[in-house]
Formats: sequence, C-alpha cells, structure tokens
Amino acid sequence: MRPVDLIRQKRDGGEHSPEEISSLIEYFVRGDVPDYQMSAWMMAVLWRRLSNVETSALTEAMMRSGSVLDLSELPGVKVDKHSTGGVGDKTSLIVVPIVAAGGLIVPMISGRGLGHTGGTLDKLESMKGFNVNLSTAEFMRVLKQTGAVMAGQTAELVPADKKMYALRDVTGTVENASLICASIMSKKLAEGVDALVLDVKTGSGAFMKNQEDAEYLAKMMVATGRTMGKNVAALVTDMNQPLGCTVGHSLEVRECLHVLGGHRHPQPQREDLRLLSVELAAWMFFLGGRVPSVEEGRKLAEELITNGKALAKFREICQAQGASDLSSLPSAKFMTKFLAADSGFITSIQCEKIGLANLALGGGRSKQGDIIDHAVGFGLHKKLGHAVKRGEKIATVHHNTRGGLPEAMILLGEAYTIEPEPPGETRVLIKKIIEDP
Ligand code: URA
Repeated sequence: MRPVDLIRQKRDGGEHSPEEISSLIEYFVRGDVPDYQMSAWMMAVLWRRLSNVETSALTEAMMRSGSVLDLSELPGVKVDKHSTGGVGDKTSLIVVPIVAAGGLIVPMISGRGLGHTGGTLDKLESMKGFNVNLSTAEFMRVLKQTGAVMAGQTAELVPADKKMYALRDVTGTVENASLICASIMSKKLAEGVDALVLDVKTGSGAFMKNQEDAEYLAKMMVATGRTMGKNVAALVTDMNQPLGCTVGHSLEVRECLHVLGGHRHPQPQREDLRLLSVELAAWMFFLGGRVPSVEEGRKLAEELITNGKALAKFREICQAQGASDLSSLPSAKFMTKFLAADSGFITSIQCEKIGLANLALGGGRSKQGDIIDHAVGFGLHKKLGHAVKRGEKIATVHHNTRGGLPEAMILLGEAYTIEPEPPGETRVLIKKIIEDP
C-alpha cells in the first residue's frame, strides 16, 4: 500500500476497501505513514466523506490499534459517556463521579481540546498532579480502586486516535461525521464497556451546526455501538451557547466542583450544566441496568449530589490519579470586563467564537505540542434570553498576558447579538433522544 495512492483515490471520490483502511492505520501508528500524508488523507475524507463500510473499517482499525480492555475480572456493569465536543462542555467531570458513586464502573478514555472546543484531559490537567497518561496497568489500578478512571489515549490504548486527534486539532480536519464517529467509538469500544451514552452537540458551538447533521452522526454512532453489542443511546443536545457559566480549564473545574457540591443557581437559565449532567448520569444508570427508568436515574443522580457521595468520589478519583489538592487550581493574573455594547436582550451567541477567544488567550493549541494556559478563560454572567443594559458586564475575561486580549475581545463582541426584543423561541436543552439508529 502506498499512502499517496489512497490519498489520490479518496481525493477523487473513490472508495477504499476495509483492508486498505486497516493497513493505512496500522502503518500510520507504527510511523511508516508520516503525519503530512495522514493529514492529507483526512482532508480528502473531509471533502469526499467515507461510506458506512469505510467508517466501520476505520473505527475497528483504530480500536484495534492498541489493546482492547477486558474488564471481565471486575464485577459489575461498565458504562461510559462521551460528548462530540462543545464550548464550556465539562459534564464528564460531574457525570463520572456521580455514576461511580452509584455503583457502576466507569472506564473513561477522553480527548484533549479539539478545534475550538475544550477537552476533558486538558481540564483534568489543570488540577496539579492529575495524571491522564496512564499505562494500561495504571488504568486498571485506578479503576479497581475507585470504580472510575479518566485517562487519555496512549501508545497502548487507541494510539491511532491519539495521533489522528492531535493532527485533526491543528489541520482543520475535525468536522466530518465519519472521523468523529471513528474517533469516539474506537475509544469507547476499546474500553470494554457494556453501555454507552453519547452527548451529540448541535448548534453554533458544536461541530455539527445543524440538528439534521447531529442526528445523522448520532445514528451512525448508535449503529456502530449496537453492531459491537453495546447498549447505546444518544442525546442530541443544544450547543447554541456555552454550557454552564464558565469557559476555560481551571474555571470549568471550579464550576464542576460547585455543581458536585450541590450548589444551584436561582436563575433556571444558569442551571443547564447541572441539568444536563444529571440527565446523562440518569441515562447511564438506566442503560447500565442500575435503575428501571431514566426518571429513577435522575433521582439517584440528584441524591448522590445532595448526600455528598459524588463529590467524595470525585476527590477519590483525583487522588488516585495524583491530584490531592483541589484548592490549588491556577488563577489568571488579570481580569477584564467584557461589557454590553447595547441595551436589550441576548438573542444569539456565536458560541464557536467564544471557544476561539479562549484559544486567543492561550487556552488551546494552534499547532501540535503548544503548551496551553489552564488559568485563562471566561466567567459568563449572561446567558441566552437575558436582559442587559449598555455597559453592563456580560463576561469576565481571565488572562495572563495582554497579548491575546484584543483578539479575544473582538471575538466576544462578534459572538453576542443584543436585540430590543427577547428571543421568540424557548430554548430546549435536550433536543432528541436516539435509541434506534
Ligand atoms: N470527541 C472525540 O473524541 N473525537 C472527536 O472527533 C470529537 C469529539
């Protein structure tokens, strides 16, 4: 197999055989296909797409690029969740401890920031000492000890995704349903879970901007999971504004600790993070057979927050992965207010621009190996539909240098639309549930 022939074939709209895809991935992982050829191939895929057969072959080849975990020695049901990525999307840090505190086993393999979206691994690493680079033996140790683990792809676990993910992040090759499906499902299938809940984002901060594309992706992933014998459901959820009230790694961890601590916001618009986290946990409890209905799952999730068990579990997982002091999250040196340019109502938010503004502050990578600043980001004081007065604070920008600030401010200015009338439609957080592909 010559990689250049596959690049040409895909560029010209051809279809690869499963064997060709499997060889491409195998040679890439062992270093015989260089990054520039893999990037060119992924760009060709982005333009020309993969068929369902090609997508399945890619998912399987990526899953088998490392070990596929056998968790049968651990008694109990293994469940996980994964999001397709959004801005301020931090539910994993809340959901994993809730579900583990409820008695299910959660072996989570996550990713880093991708494009304008933040990644779970980067958020976890804002806690001093938190180790996401676990060997398979360490992964199993943490899982046995705490009932959950949150780690990254490694040379042993889905190495193909580790390498492809890092390339996609900086080569504009994220927004393709097959690449997203293969990336997510290869990780989830390698974990050896019994059940899986997918949070498929749609809207201005998602990779799938419209609901039709999000549903297409959701069905593709549910079908892939089913074919592999997993109990899977996908929730298509709103990403037309950042989830919760913070964007940026350590700010988001603090917000998760707040939710796990049982704190609620008096304004319902600011409750989206807690509500979605409870919903995802409820589905995990239901699909994992822990409760007879999603409603019972919600009750259990709420109870585990209220009685402090979810927060205690979070601390236990952090400690097992090397982070014992959660009070030492980094803070930025400067805080600058972002003010409303007009009076009226916030009628739309170009959420991707808020993600890009965070990258401008140093909270993301523009090329492989960039060191990210965990302390930067935004505190968001206004959500969609909120009334604002000219000069009122919409967001607080947390930054360490003044370098990226002008660009971030411009992006924020472009992100928010303020109009005299409130938005007509009410916002629905969970837009659709897909259980049958
Ligand atoms: N999350 C992943 O793990 N992969 C993607 O491609 C998108 C979101």
